[in-house]
Amino acid sequence: MVDEKKCITCGSCMSICPVGAIKIVNGKAKIDPKKCIKCGSCAQFCPVSAIEIKK
Ligand code: SF4
Ligand code: SF4
Repeated sequence: MVDEKKCITCGSCMSICPVGAIKIVNGKAKIDPKKCIKCGSCAQFCPVSAIEIKK
């Protein structure tokens, strides 16, 4: 899940995602749950901690 209020659209999560599940939509990062393998990389690399992995 991406907290859109926190996201600064830096693009880090997008480049770090191993399966390309993240896209910038309307200026905010959006995770495609069908592609996401819940590896946690994006959450780790987000500079503003806008991403939370929900199991
Ligand atoms: S948890 Fe992993 S697979 Fe899912 S969006 Fe983040 S980087 Fe991509
Ligand atoms: S790494 Fe965080 S701040 Fe950067 S685009 Fe992704 S969710 Fe937004």
